[in-house]
Amino acid sequence: LLYNQVQDLKGTIRVYCRVRPFLPGQSDGQSTVDYIGENGNIMIINPHKQGKDARRMFTFNKVLGTNVTQQQIYVDTQPLIRSVLDGYNVCIFAYGQTGSGKTYTMSGPDLMTEETWGVNYRALRDLFQISKARMDIIEYEVGVQMIEIYNEQVRDLLVIDGSNRRLDIRNNSQLNGLNVPDASLIPVKCTQDVLNLMRIGQRNRAVGATALNERSSRSHSILTVHVRGKELVSGSILKGCLHLVDLAGSERVDKSEAVGERLKEAQHINRSLSALGDVISALAQKSTHIPYRNSKLTQVLQDSLGGHAKTLMFVHINPEVNAIGETISTLKFAERVA
Ligand code: ADP
Ligand code: MG
Repeated sequence: LLYNQVQDLKGTIRVYCRVRPFLPGQSDGQSTVDYIGENGNIMIINPHKQGKDARRMFTFNKVLGTNVTQQQIYVDTQPLIRSVLDGYNVCIFAYGQTGSGKTYTMSGPDLMTEETWGVNYRALRDLFQISKARMDIIEYEVGVQMIEIYNEQVRDLLVIDGSNRRLDIRNNSQLNGLNVPDASLIPVKCTQDVLNLMRIGQRNRAVGATALNERSSRSHSILTVHVRGKELVSGSILKGCLHLVDLAGSERVDKSEAVGERLKEAQHINRSLSALGDVISALAQKSTHIPYRNSKLTQVLQDSLGGHAKTLMFVHINPEVNAIGETISTLKFAERVA
């Protein structure tokens, strides 16, 4: 194993907190982030509270400030991603309220600009590069699936014909991460192939958008990279998969205001995010019962969470004063899974 230095991360959950910068024209100069300390500390200041109660410290594996670039974010993620080529299953999540930077971290602001590419494209570029470098020893095949989970229904985002049928989940350890076997699994050979697929995925996601709200913030999207390697000398096969998950916005919805479809969406999101939190914290506590069955999200990811797998969660916060409530609940969620 070339990347056995990350073996010790197996079965562990890492949590990185990323602070989104103020957007142009938005800054009133007041931030809820008092300071980012050494060793993964972040001090939050709540302007609505006084004295001792106004400040609270949270601790994670790492805190990434507003000046941290996409490249630097990737460097911290790279060893995990590379271990997929050694046969590990890896999950990377982006968690946070809508507008906190989840899609920025996972995909980047636009497909065309390589410099600001997110984790998704960098990961695939890296996987292609390394598999090429190992060509004389291992022959790799890489395939990609892209699904979304909306209102507890799983849909294929890579269908070309726009058919939007519901897919079943099958949990079978033999499948090794291929838990939605009927979703299109498209072979890819280079980053251009991936970019083309992303366009299809984004288009299919947009088609489903209701007039009332942006669907992408109400659904979880999962890009799964399946890797199969054949060792040329021994003929032995290794399989790994990487799930890159852009979660639905974690904001709580005021039950007195939301009605109908909006309320249903919110309830599904709340339930699946808390199911995810329950699974991760049960794993962290080495509990004997892991409640995977409580949501579609955790069922899809079942064999890539826990055991032999590695998990990284990026929790995103928006430093604006009016986001303080969501910032604190995001950090509490993150603290529970860390
Ligand atoms: P989310 O997916 O959580 O709803 P987005 O990723 O769409 O949030 O980010 C909201 C806005 O903030 C977008 O305009 C995005 O380009 C910008 N943004 C987010 N994170 C950063 C960052 N680290 N640096 C610069 N702009 C960012
Ligand atoms: Mg988004």
